[in-house]
Amino acid sequence: LSAAAQEVVDEIDANNVDFLRLQFTDILGTVKNVSVPATQAEKAFTEGIYFDGSSIEGFVRIQESDMRLKPDPDTFAILPWRNRDDGTASARLICDVIDTSTGEPFAGDPRGVLKSALDRAAEHGFTVNAAPEPEFFLFEEDEDGRATTKTNDAGGYFDLAPKDLASDVRRDIIYGLQEMGFEVEASHHEVAEGQHEINFTYDDALSTADNVATFRSVVRAIAAQHELHATFMPKPIAKINGSGMHTHISLFTEDGENAFHDETDEFNLSETAKQFTAGMLEHAPALAAVANPTVNSYKRLVPGYEAPVYIAWSDRNRSALIRKPAARVPAASRVEARFPDPSCNPYLAFAALIHAGLDGIERGLQCPDPVRENIYDFDEEKREEYGIDTLPTNLGEAVDALEADEVVMDALGEHVTEKFIEAKRQEYDEFRIDVSQWELDRYLETY
Ligand code: GLU
Ligand code: MG
Ligand code: MG
Repeated sequence: LSAAAQEVVDEIDANNVDFLRLQFTDILGTVKNVSVPATQAEKAFTEGIYFDGSSIEGFVRIQESDMRLKPDPDTFAILPWRNRDDGTASARLICDVIDTSTGEPFAGDPRGVLKSALDRAAEHGFTVNAAPEPEFFLFEEDEDGRATTKTNDAGGYFDLAPKDLASDVRRDIIYGLQEMGFEVEASHHEVAEGQHEINFTYDDALSTADNVATFRSVVRAIAAQHELHATFMPKPIAKINGSGMHTHISLFTEDGENAFHDETDEFNLSETAKQFTAGMLEHAPALAAVANPTVNSYKRLVPGYEAPVYIAWSDRNRSALIRKPAARVPAASRVEARFPDPSCNPYLAFAALIHAGLDGIERGLQCPDPVRENIYDFDEEKREEYGIDTLPTNLGEAVDALEADEVVMDALGEHVTEKFIEAKRQEYDEFRIDVSQWELDRYLETY
């Protein structure tokens, strides 16, 4: 056993862990579990745990279905909401998925896709740091325990108690996250009723993607203990703010310098940062398919609700796709992609953003000037004058853009691209032929 694996085995003994959940995500970002008795831990580290991949979304065809889970010892955490009265506990380990026929990382494993993106960054001498700002709503459950869209508070941005009744729940969520090893930096009530945001410390992009997956499960599990439903659906209620997952990114050099910082630049952004930004802007329509992967994502990306619509960057306003946040110290210079939402698969979304940015660096793309006005107020003529394009307006258009973008398809790899496009086309078609309540309200009695 490696030293890190041995440490996990010792922790398992010390904490009376009797079950281990081996976790990975499918292409759509849903966390999957294979539960094994903790006595299997050593075997899991040495040989891996075999499972049938044919039942997992987008994984494999039936005839080639044997997969092996290889736990990453750095991801060991005891599940705080599973402590039992008899003193036993459950823990989780996040795993890489290995294709048993080749012994190589499985091409359909999103975590592997992100690792490849980080390898490409490493070829340029960079490590990637990322920090997400996941927003979510807390809704009441009905008598049958099903989620409603009724909020249990009437707070507004940064409101304090007693209005913010949900702050108790948020406090318990934060305790839960801390027990899972998160360093929570801030939490606040967001703009919309029932909407919250919890920020945790930045980390390398792989750990951050693991953290996002964990974050969503912790928030849901602890909200459920309060009989509330936490949702990361991007736009649960029309005409109020939706939930984004702004993603802050920076590249660091091998000697620990922030490659995005330049003291002499007006925005403190290096040429590398600007090229990276230019790459994300150029590939934005295809990136949207990955970072905004649901039908509902496009209900959020409309003018007027602090979510981006236009393909531009800014050092000020929040209507732009990418923002340069103010940084107090050089190490904090970074760019903030404002379009991702929390329904995305964080591994795939980060991988796509990183590849798009690196493409900008490799091609030495020129970054346009920042736009300082509120772009929501621009008419079409003014947008044309500034050369500002818009994001896709629905999932169908986004998938078209993905299919036309070799860089973003390469970022995902052939296997994931094929399965992802197939799943998303089907999702969009189902929506397209559905008859909605809006249509009935509008037309049923009129015609
Ligand atoms: N909720 C907004 C969004 O959909 C973001 C608000 C903020 O700037 O935090 O992206
Ligand atoms: Mg926010
Ligand atoms: Mg933000």
